[in-house]
Amino acid sequence: MTDIFENYSSPWLNEELLVLRDAARKFFTTELGPHQARWEEQGMVDRDAWTKTGAAGFLLAEMPVEYGGSGGDYRHETVIMEEQLRAGASGLGSQVHSQIVAPYFLNYGTEEQKQKWLPKMATGESVGAIAMTEPNTGSDLQGVRTTAIRDGDEYVINGSKTYISNGQHCDLVIVVAKTDPTQGAKGISLIVVEASTPGFQRGRNLKKMGQAAADTSELFFADCRVPVGNCLGDEGKGFVQLMQQLPQERLNIAQAAVVEMERAIAMTIDFVKQRKAFGQRVMDFQNTKFKLAECKTEAFIARTFVDQCLVRHMAGELDASTASMAKYWCTDKQNQIIDTCLQLHGGAGYMEEYPISGMYKDARVQSIYGGTNEIMKELISRTLDA
Ligand SMILES: Cc1cc2nc3c(=O)[nH]c(=O)nc-3n(C[C@H](O)[C@H](O)[C@H](O)COP(=O)(O)OP(=O)(O)OC[C@H]3O[C@@H](n4cnc5c(N)ncnc54)[C@H](O)[C@@H]3O)c2cc1C
Repeated sequence: MTDIFENYSSPWLNEELLVLRDAARKFFTTELGPHQARWEEQGMVDRDAWTKTGAAGFLLAEMPVEYGGSGGDYRHETVIMEEQLRAGASGLGSQVHSQIVAPYFLNYGTEEQKQKWLPKMATGESVGAIAMTEPNTGSDLQGVRTTAIRDGDEYVINGSKTYISNGQHCDLVIVVAKTDPTQGAKGISLIVVEASTPGFQRGRNLKKMGQAAADTSELFFADCRVPVGNCLGDEGKGFVQLMQQLPQERLNIAQAAVVEMERAIAMTIDFVKQRKAFGQRVMDFQNTKFKLAECKTEAFIARTFVDQCLVRHMAGELDASTASMAKYWCTDKQNQIIDTCLQLHGGAGYMEEYPISGMYKDARVQSIYGGTNEIMKELISRTLDA
């Protein structure tokens, strides 16, 4: 496929990461990519996709070796995620597992909790999920109604969650619950629930307009009892912990958006070069060249922006507002660019056999999850009148 930014290499890439990139490309292209279409049909990946990916060393890349991880950092996670997407193997919810769930264990877990849960996540034996959203509240996280009420040495959890990624496969769920329902944000805690716990139940694997191979579910908790030792960090600190971790999640979504823009542009260039109309290549129409020039420019701006965000994130300097800018702008651009690319495919773009049609459907959720783009603008605007 055409390399659209001929002379550009992300400034944070080094020799070691390039070696990792080659290995990840080979793994995802040969081991997962070929199954994606079947997984879309069945609504989820095969369970052994997790253990295969773990065995190949592509889960929990940024977790320390003592907890089963690869001892890398966020750059390693980025390289792996990019190659997974380039291979068209997005069905495996490893971004949620490795880059969102695992960091909560690392950053807020006790030594015992880390030893207990992280090594099995690294092998893929345990699949992680995080359950914030509920049927009645998504953007307004302070309004969660799921409760975790202390009873002796246990929490008793009651409530329901929805739209939870990895919901069918998960073995461990970080549940955002009110340990003090009289409080708003200050009453929220993060409680780990193992899927084998009585009272935990999975709901339907929800049918979605896109991302069909990624399982997304309702989860129910009915008098679900877990030890008080399953609270991550201090009771009542859950909201603060979420706010600390969400910038990485948002950067991750923005980075995925950029990879998808680049893929869409590259596959469209290949298409318009071979497709003919009115005796010439579709590529030769001025409209095509100008549209693709615009797409390339915007994708390049997005790429350099997320690269800069990554460098700041590595230095511990990525603030919530900048991460929100990256998330909202890159995902909006992803949707616009993929729409333009689909149009340049003509009718073929509407056909499932052309990947651009799937990319169009998959892209739509990017401006919704991880905090909607409206919420991103809300967060950015708070810095304007501080
Ligand atoms: C495929 C998929 C996977 C997901 N995975 C997970 C997961 O793993 N874990 C999890 O916890 N959640 C997950 N979600 C849920 C997702 O994070 C929420 O859908 C999202 O945060 C929006 O919440 P909501 O659906 O309740 O929308 P609402 O909050 O009801 O928003 C509805 C509309 O109102 C707007 N709105 C709300 N508040 C404001 C405001 N203050 N100002 C302006 N506009 C506002 C929103 O932007 C939106 O346009 C997933 C969702 C999907 C679709």
